[in-house]
Amino acid sequence: MYALAYRIGLWTGKRRELAFLYSDSMPELPEVETIVRGLDKRVTGDMIESVWIGTRTQPLKSPAAEIAATLEGKKIVRVHRAGKHIVFDLEKKAARAKTRRTASLRENERSQWIVHLGMTGRMLVCESAAEIAKHTHLVAKLASGRELRFVDPRMFGKLSVHTADFDPGGVEPLEVAEEEFLALFRGRKTPIKSALLNQKLLRGVGNIYADESLFRAGIRPRRRASSLTWEDLRRLYGAVQEVLREAIALGGSSISDYVDSDGEEGFFQLQHRVYGREDKPCLVCRTPVKRIALIGRSSHYCPKCQK
Ligand SMILES: [Zn+2]
Repeated sequence: MYALAYRIGLWTGKRRELAFLYSDSMPELPEVETIVRGLDKRVTGDMIESVWIGTRTQPLKSPAAEIAATLEGKKIVRVHRAGKHIVFDLEKKAARAKTRRTASLRENERSQWIVHLGMTGRMLVCESAAEIAKHTHLVAKLASGRELRFVDPRMFGKLSVHTADFDPGGVEPLEVAEEEFLALFRGRKTPIKSALLNQKLLRGVGNIYADESLFRAGIRPRRRASSLTWEDLRRLYGAVQEVLREAIALGGSSISDYVDSDGEEGFFQLQHRVYGREDKPCLVCRTPVKRIALIGRSSHYCPKCQK
């Protein structure tokens, strides 16, 4: 539905307005976590036999030849998440050494395939006979006979390969300790909402969960981080953890049109208390929810419950 609205928007020249309304509907940490768990269950242990890469270069952050060379002949040993990135840990068994001495010198060759879904990216696990969807940019044939496919109509997604451990920067919001969280935000002059969205501080928190966390913590999005007390920051720490954990438990919430790694509609929606509820009564005090623009994104809050 959203994708359709966007495309119509492009044709009628309403791009700016629609981009403002819909630019937030990208997968955030809980959705990526759900996708990653689905992928890990389905493809870990499988071997990538061959790779086909399309001609569009936008989603490729490593050269196509390098991506193919890194993926082909590798075993997928684990699929996990780093911020909003999907990380495939790959391994190539070292050639059998002739003597025990050389064997100890040869380690299994390790590498990583990193996928960022952007706004409309999807990773599908399908049978090889399944019809190839439009906007498919990569197909990895697996030894099991299935295929991993990357589909992305708007091409904001990113594909890259790494030989060392990939580090997107920032800290994992579900792993950060309270004291570290407080230190990240304490004294910053930016609005707290912008600081929450800054991926160099926390990685993976996007617009929806930032709004929901601020609502639960009773803090307005425009408040400067430096104006928050230790107590405010402690409540916010608790709220971020609570919101993300609830959303993961529900399988990630989504207002976009992407699907899980089986290609099925895979997401339940966490009931948003403020996000997307402009002018609707606050679920706590009935005051109409407000929407404001902040760093080009829409922010929703209750003017009574949030100070
Ligand atoms: Zn309220």
